[in-house]
Amino acid sequence: MAFFKPVELKTEHRVNPIGIGETTPRLSWRMEDSRPGAHQTAWQVVAASAPELLDAKPDLWDTGKVRSGDCIGIAWQGPKLRSRQRVFWRVRIWDSAGEVSDWSETASFEMGLLRKADWRSAWIGRPLEPGRPCPHLRRTFMLRGGIVRARAYMTARGVFELHLNGRRVGCDRFAPGWTDYRRRIQVSTYDVADHLREGENAVGAILGDGWYAGRIRGLGRRFWYGEQLSLLVQIEVEHADGSRTRIAGDETWKTSTGPILGADFYDGEAYDARLEMRGWSEPGFDDSVWSAARLFTPPEAALVPSRSVPIRPQEELSAQGFSEPRPGVFVFDLGQNMTGLARIRLRQPRGREIVVRYAEMLDAEGTLYTENLRTAKCTDRYICRGGEELFEPHFTFHGFRYVELTGIAGRPEREDVVGVVLHSDMARTGDFACSDERVNRLYSCIVWGQKGNFLDIPTDCPQRDERLGWTGDAQVFANTACLNFDATAFFGKWCVDVDDAQRPDGAFTNTAPDVYDGAGGEAAWGDAGVICPWAAYRFSGDAAILERHYAAMTKWIRWRERNSPGLIHAHAAWGDWLAIDASPDDLGRSPTPRDLIGTAYFAHSTAIVAKVARVLGRRADAVRFSKLAKRIRAAFNREFVAPSGRIVGDSQTGYLLALGFDLLPAAKRGHALERLVKDIESRGWHLSTGFVGTPLIAPVLTRFGRGDVALKLLLQTTYPSWLYPVLQGATTMWERWNSFTLDQGFGSAGMNSFNHYAYGAVGEWLYGAVGGIELDLDEPGGRRIVFRPCVGGGLTWARCTWKSPYGTMSSAWRLEGGRLKLDIALPPNTRGTVMLPGRRPVDVGPGEHRFKARHKEMQ
Ligand code: BGC
Repeated sequence: MAFFKPVELKTEHRVNPIGIGETTPRLSWRMEDSRPGAHQTAWQVVAASAPELLDAKPDLWDTGKVRSGDCIGIAWQGPKLRSRQRVFWRVRIWDSAGEVSDWSETASFEMGLLRKADWRSAWIGRPLEPGRPCPHLRRTFMLRGGIVRARAYMTARGVFELHLNGRRVGCDRFAPGWTDYRRRIQVSTYDVADHLREGENAVGAILGDGWYAGRIRGLGRRFWYGEQLSLLVQIEVEHADGSRTRIAGDETWKTSTGPILGADFYDGEAYDARLEMRGWSEPGFDDSVWSAARLFTPPEAALVPSRSVPIRPQEELSAQGFSEPRPGVFVFDLGQNMTGLARIRLRQPRGREIVVRYAEMLDAEGTLYTENLRTAKCTDRYICRGGEELFEPHFTFHGFRYVELTGIAGRPEREDVVGVVLHSDMARTGDFACSDERVNRLYSCIVWGQKGNFLDIPTDCPQRDERLGWTGDAQVFANTACLNFDATAFFGKWCVDVDDAQRPDGAFTNTAPDVYDGAGGEAAWGDAGVICPWAAYRFSGDAAILERHYAAMTKWIRWRERNSPGLIHAHAAWGDWLAIDASPDDLGRSPTPRDLIGTAYFAHSTAIVAKVARVLGRRADAVRFSKLAKRIRAAFNREFVAPSGRIVGDSQTGYLLALGFDLLPAAKRGHALERLVKDIESRGWHLSTGFVGTPLIAPVLTRFGRGDVALKLLLQTTYPSWLYPVLQGATTMWERWNSFTLDQGFGSAGMNSFNHYAYGAVGEWLYGAVGGIELDLDEPGGRRIVFRPCVGGGLTWARCTWKSPYGTMSSAWRLEGGRLKLDIALPPNTRGTVMLPGRRPVDVGPGEHRFKARHKEMQ
C-alpha cells in the first residue's frame, strides 16, 4: 500500500458542492506525502453517475493515466453536464518513482438548474405594507416515503430565510447575496432531505429588504433594484422508486406578516416577539387568517446557480464587561471591532421595548460614538414576549465593538450580550507572528479587517451608510486577502459582479455592484477588473478565472487606449486617496499628479493582461499587449521622469508607482530609490502615501534593497504609520491613520471608518518579507516559493505559515548569538529557493529544511 495519496478533493474550489453552474468545472486535489522531495508525476481521474460505478465501470469519464504534475484546476472533459446532474469522482496519482497511490476518497459535485425550462415555479410574495414588515410565506404538502434525495432551489428579490417543518434550513445569512439584480439573480441550492418526511410537510420562507430593496448609499435611497419583495422556490424530491415530487411556488402558498416589523442593513431591525407565530412553518399551523400569495412577474435578469460563498456565523465573542455611563444605559464591550450581530438574552416583562445600538468606538463620556455612522441608524428594537428570550436580528448586520442596551428593567449580566461574527465562509489559510507584540496586533487588525468586510462582496466598511464594493480598496488588498483566507471562490463570485458592472464602452466602475450609474474608469479603482482575477489566479493556481474575465480585461485596456491621448491616462479621480500631504478638501488627490497615477496603472494593467494572454496561450495578444505596455512606459518616462530620474510631483507615491510597476529604465531606478528614501527620511522616517502608494511602499523598498527602511516604517509608532493606530487602541484597520487619537479624539466624522482594510495591504509583505514566504509570480498557487526573510529592525524572530492549494508551507527564523536560523517546510509538488544574506541561493524541494547564516544588522 502506498503511503502517499491525493486528499482534499475539490470542485470549483469547494468540497462536494451542490447547485453549481459551471459547465466546465475545475477539479483539484492535494498530494499528501511526508517524504522529502515528494512530487506527483501523473494522475488519473475517474467519474461516474453513481459511487458504486467508480470501481467497476466509470460511466462518465476516465482520463487514463495523464503524465503531469498538475493537481489544480483540472478542467472537466467528460460528457456535457446537465441540470441536476450528480457526478462522483476520485483520483489516483503517481509519484516520482512511478509508484501509484490508492484511489482517493470519493468526491462529488452536482449541477444546479441551468435552463429556464427547469423552473416550474412562479415568483410569489405579498404586497408590502407601510413600515415594510417582513413577509412570511408558507404552504403544506404531502410526500410519499422513500425519500432518497431532496433539493430546494431558491432565490429572492430581497434576502430570504428558508424553513422546513419548523426548522431553519442551514445557517446562511442574506442569501442570495448581492449581485446587480437587474442582470443576474443567484439561486441557492440546499440539500433538504433531512428536513422532510413521509406524510404532511410544511415549507416556510421569510423575506427581507436586503440589497434589493433596502438602503444603499447615504441620503436614504431605498428600493435600488425594486420595491416589491418576491420569492422563487422549487423543492424537488426523489424517491427510491425513481419517482419525483416537485413543490413549486404558486398561488396555493399563503402569506402573512410576522414579528419582524422591518429590517434594513444600515438602519437595523425591529422585532416584536409578541407577534411570533409558534409553528408557522409546521404542518399543523392554523393559517386560515393568512392570505393567498400574490404572483409576481418574473424578472428580466438571468437566473444563475449561485457562485457566492455563503455568509455564515463564524465565531462568537463574549462581552468583556459592561458599563453604565448614564442611568439605564448599558454599554457592553466585546473587546474587538467586528461585523455581524449581537445575540441578546433578555428576561423582561412582556411588551417592554429594548433598544439596541451599535458603535465601533466610545466617546469621552463612555457612551456610543455614532457620528461616523452618518445616516445609518444601526439600531435594533425588540419588544419582549416575556420570560427568558434570545434576540438575534435576521436581516441586518452591524459593524461594532460596543453594544448599548436601553429600556432594560433591572440590571443585565455580562453574559447577556454575545457578538456573532458573520462573514463569507472562507477557510483561514495564513498565520503570522513575530517578536514584536505590536506588529502582531497589527496583523490581527489586518485579519479582522478582512473578516469585517468580506460579506459576499468586498466592502469598504461595514458600519456607515456605505458598505459598497469599492473596487480600488478590493484591488489593493486582494493579495493579502488570498493569503489570510482561501478567497478564490469569493473573488470568483465578485469578479463576475465587476464584469457585470463594466460599462458598454469598457470602463470598469468605481463600485461593483455598480451603484453610481456607471461612474468609473478611474485608475487603481477600475483596475480591479484586471488585478483581482490575476490575484485569484496567482494564489489558487487555477487559470479558469482568467479565461472567464479575459474579454472584459481586454475591453478595459482598449477603452483606456482610446481615452489616453499620447498614452497618458488622466482618469484617476481618486488620486492617491487620503495621502498625507493633500489639502483637506482634496482627500489625497495630490501631490501625486493624477495623470501620473493613471498612466502608471495603465502600464501596470496592460502588462498584467499581456501575462494573462500568455497563460491562456493567446500568443498574438500577449505580444500586442507587451508592446503596448512598453509604449506606455516610454510615454510615462517622457512625460513624468526628468533625465535626472526625478519624477513630477516628487511624491513617495510617484516613485513607488514607477519602481513597483517597473516603469523606469534600469539606469534611473537608483536615483528614484534615493529620492524615495530621502523623502521618507526627511519626514522622520514616515510615509506620506495614501491608498495607492501605501500598498507598494514596503514591498518596493525591500525589493530594491532597502528592507531596513521598510522595517523602520513598519515599526514606526508616530503618525502616520501602521503602528500608530494600533497604539491608539485599534483592533481593526482604520480608514485613516488618525481616525482617532488619544490626544485629539476623533477625526472628521464625514469619512471615518474604523474598519477599512486598504492599509492592511501590508499583510502580503508581512508574510513575504518579515515571515519569509514570498510567492514566485510566475508559478501560481505557491508552486514555487522564495524564502528571503528581511531580518532586522530589532525583530528577533518571525514565523508564518500558509496553507497553499498544494499544502501547508512554513517559514520561521530567529536570531541567536549573532546567527540567523531559518526553518522552512514545503508541501509536495512545490519547490523553493532560500536566499539568505551573504549566502548563495539554495534550491529546496518538499520537506523540512534548516539553514544558518551569519547575521549582520542591515545599514
Ligand atoms: C470609500 C473608499 C473608496 C472611496 C472612493 C470612500 O467613501 O470608503 O474606501 O475607495 O470612497 O474614493
